[in-house]
Amino acid sequence: LPAALAQVIAETPGIDWVTDPGRRERLSRDFAWFSPVLARELAGKSAEAVARPTDEAGVVAVVAACARHGVALTPRGSATGNYGQCTPVQGGVLLDLSGYNALLWQRGGVARAQAGIRMGAMDDQLRPSGWELRCVPSTFRSATLGGLYGGGFGGVGSINHGPLAATGNVLGVRTLTIEPEPRLVELRAPEALLLHHVYGTNGIVLELEVALAPAHPWLEAIVAFDDFDAALVFADTFAAQPGIVKKSVTLFDSAVCALLAQALPYLADGLPAGHHAVPVLVAEWGEQALRELAAAHDGQITWRQTAAEVSASKRTLVETTWNHTTLHALKVDKSITYIQSGFPAGPHLEQVRALRRHFGDALLVHLEFIRNRDGLPTCSGLQMLRFRDDAHLDDVMQTHRAHGVGIANPHVWRVEDGKQGAINAEIVATKARFDPQGLLNPGKLRGWDERERLLTAGLPDTRSPALATL
Ligand code: FAD
Repeated sequence: LPAALAQVIAETPGIDWVTDPGRRERLSRDFAWFSPVLARELAGKSAEAVARPTDEAGVVAVVAACARHGVALTPRGSATGNYGQCTPVQGGVLLDLSGYNALLWQRGGVARAQAGIRMGAMDDQLRPSGWELRCVPSTFRSATLGGLYGGGFGGVGSINHGPLAATGNVLGVRTLTIEPEPRLVELRAPEALLLHHVYGTNGIVLELEVALAPAHPWLEAIVAFDDFDAALVFADTFAAQPGIVKKSVTLFDSAVCALLAQALPYLADGLPAGHHAVPVLVAEWGEQALRELAAAHDGQITWRQTAAEVSASKRTLVETTWNHTTLHALKVDKSITYIQSGFPAGPHLEQVRALRRHFGDALLVHLEFIRNRDGLPTCSGLQMLRFRDDAHLDDVMQTHRAHGVGIANPHVWRVEDGKQGAINAEIVATKARFDPQGLLNPGKLRGWDERERLLTAGLPDTRSPALATL
């Protein structure tokens, strides 16, 4: 071990440390292998040791020791991220927060939990009171709330509440400074969002306070269609229906259905060959309205599970949506990879149609219907394709941009690169405040390398469009 790291370990005797090469390498890896580009670029990158504290004093002790000895530090939840988000680029310590996982309190529609709580476990504790998390990723069983905040977007429930970043979802976070004597700081919204989706490079979150949604018994159903456009219009119409209480609306074209039917034989009858499918989660008493709307669009319900059946079978459609779709497809076709796109509300259906005409069979259509940050119904895409080479992948993403569709590039590992390279001075200023030595996963936030220019340019109070495009 490097001398500085050996000192850190020696000075934190109460902490469970992992130094075994096989285990620390496994703990340093997430689902970046979905991307052939990232699998190549991140190969061999790993922490030199993993710390597994289970209380705040333990986290503070590890952070303080790393700051004293100038050792790099990367937070980790359950490592279900997709872009090597928790992979330390320059080694150092991986701070595994999955053992720091208590639900601290719930008051009506608000709850506060330690960052390492698994979202499935949090929902299990909340539901008896009639509340649940507003949005969860399809990885909810294993993924942590802190990991969703640090690296995620949203997921099931975003049809109602938008992405996690939408105003009102995150109310507060407790963080600490990465200094020899760490200071504990409570950030309330909107400041609480400054550490969101920055891959843990500008702060470590200890606790999150989030708004909740009413928990309903969710019926899971698949509506199948002969015609792609009928499926698209149904999904969009159903998603926007104000009187139908729902939690998710997804669309798979027939090629995606074929892959899923192969990967998940128990779903094969629900995904009949040659059909396009719209899996939904709807409150059980909304079933009649679902059936009426499906019939009006020539759709047929091919799969149905009540909430009690879902709970007894331990199989949920949630784990076929979002990036679970890609995961299952990869099980049966290793050449599959994917892109992530965001459709502007309004022209989204026309854009879906235009891109389908453009790519034909070369792009497998998978859409998730959501509300955007302004509350407008639209969809985001996790379209799949067969990987040829990097240039072809770039070309497919560029074609989407040319059609006015936003791309969150899942084949890059630096924070800003997924967002078209936009450097955000406010994010960099936040890092200067909470991580003045630049110890959090060095190399991952491009803006930090340009901090002198950015910070002397004057700090904006809000995200400055001018600086964002620097
Ligand atoms: P990790 O992967 O451990 O960490 C994610 C990032 O957050 C890392 O950069 C890490 O350094 C940072 N981080 C972790 N904890 C903290 C903390 N306490 N403070 C500061 N930074 C921290 N994402 C979605 O948004 N929606 C989806 O529906 C979705 N579906 C997925 C499906 C599959 C099959 C896969 C593989 C991924 C999916 N993801 C999805 C991505 C990922 O699962 C989620 O974002 C998840 O919430 C990440 O949680 P985690 O605990 O695994 O985080």
